[in-house]
Amino acid sequence: MEQLPALIDGFNRKVDYLRMSVTDRCDFRCVYCMAEDMQFLPRQQILSLEELYQVAERFVALGTRKIRLTGGEPLVRQGIVELCGRIAALPGLRELCLTSNGSQLSRLAQPLFDAGVTRLNISLDSLDPERFRALTRTGDLAQVIAGIDAARAAGFRRTKLNAVVLKGRNDDEIVDLVRFAIERELDITFIEEMPLGVISEHQRDESYCSSDEVRARLAEHFSLIESAESSQGPARYWRLAEAPTTRVGFISPHSHNFCATCNRVRLTVEGRLLLCLGNEHSADLKQVLREHPDDPARLESAIRDAMHLKPYRHHFEVGGEVQILRFMNMTGG
Ligand code: SAM
Ligand code: SF4
Repeated sequence: MEQLPALIDGFNRKVDYLRMSVTDRCDFRCVYCMAEDMQFLPRQQILSLEELYQVAERFVALGTRKIRLTGGEPLVRQGIVELCGRIAALPGLRELCLTSNGSQLSRLAQPLFDAGVTRLNISLDSLDPERFRALTRTGDLAQVIAGIDAARAAGFRRTKLNAVVLKGRNDDEIVDLVRFAIERELDITFIEEMPLGVISEHQRDESYCSSDEVRARLAEHFSLIESAESSQGPARYWRLAEAPTTRVGFISPHSHNFCATCNRVRLTVEGRLLLCLGNEHSADLKQVLREHPDDPARLESAIRDAMHLKPYRHHFEVGGEVQILRFMNMTGG
């Protein structure tokens, strides 16, 4: 029987979205994402730009329509703009998105737009410079806001802000963050903290702030209209009667299970294909790439075979044991 150019997992879900971590390094050390003294991987352990391109190329040949580059901070990887240009040119790819902390966007927004990146997500957890510095440990808020503005000037539209909400740290800023998004015609998504990696800086169960709580507090200030739009992924969206161009999304891995419609897989910076963010099921694509260089058929069958490893769902729990020892920067959040 002729094989269709599509990836289907064991639960009949079509996988057409790939998130690729292009580096584990970052110029920030956000408290929920990294330890202060992170050890980064030696260069030979991470995929080269050429290897990243080859994986993207195979996925697109297998029906992937959307790729998101992430990290770590993707914009600290040398050669990222050229990589974006090559991936964006793959025939069949509809969207090349990138998730960034914004620190390099003043310089890189225009080259990325010109290279064919279609959309950006930019993380922003606080509008207070000191708090921003405390949450990111190294970040400069003014630089990030300049990056957000540079993205618009470069031509990016429907840029989305991502804010991880931590009780007692930034939950009092959610209304201001929405106002900031409205002023700049951005979307904004509030994210529940996920238990990825062992962190020492705070107790995740104490900082946990549910999406329902965030939404209830926003509803005191805005008229939220539930929207049928979904990115086929974890986010659920609301529109604001006061600002129809701004969508407010919630990613709630604890309180809303979105696994049934999951269409995505992730490539770690070490070339491990993760079939689920909340499980360790994976396939080692780096080994295939290095043992059989220039053999796209091998890579393709490794990707196809991996689909059968995709588990039905994740099981995150607040306050339980850390179930996943990977940090988010390894995974590509
Ligand atoms: N450096 C880029 C950035 O910060 O946008 C891209 C990588 S970062 C790992 C991607 C997203 O994951 C960010 O929005 C970040 O806030 C989020 N994130 C990191 N650690 C998280 C955690 N433990 N729980 C929930 N979201 C997390
Ligand atoms: Fe870096 Fe993004 Fe992790 Fe913050 S969330 S430490 S910016 S990778």
